[in-house]
Amino acid sequence: MEEKKIIRKCIACNSLKNRNNLIKITINKNKEIAVMPDSKFFGHSIYICKNNDCMQNAFKKGKIYKILKIKPDKKLEEKIRAVLEK
Ligand SMILES: [Zn+2]
Repeated sequence: MEEKKIIRKCIACNSLKNRNNLIKITINKNKEIAVMPDSKFFGHSIYICKNNDCMQNAFKKGKIYKILKIKPDKKLEEKIRAVLEK
């Protein structure tokens, strides 16, 4: 695999990291959300570090939902947490 240094910011701890160490969540114009989407899914993306602390922080007080401008969604949370467990 080609190594690209793409730096993105975690929404929980605000640290800048190589994208490979972050979980990517993308929301498109139809408010459809993809966790770790492939390159064909376009939209606004946010990133969370692949660790439990940031995961918890991202969901604390509905932070992630405010950023995505959506209602709290337990299924989405489960999907994102599933990436961590892989
Ligand atoms: Zn973080």
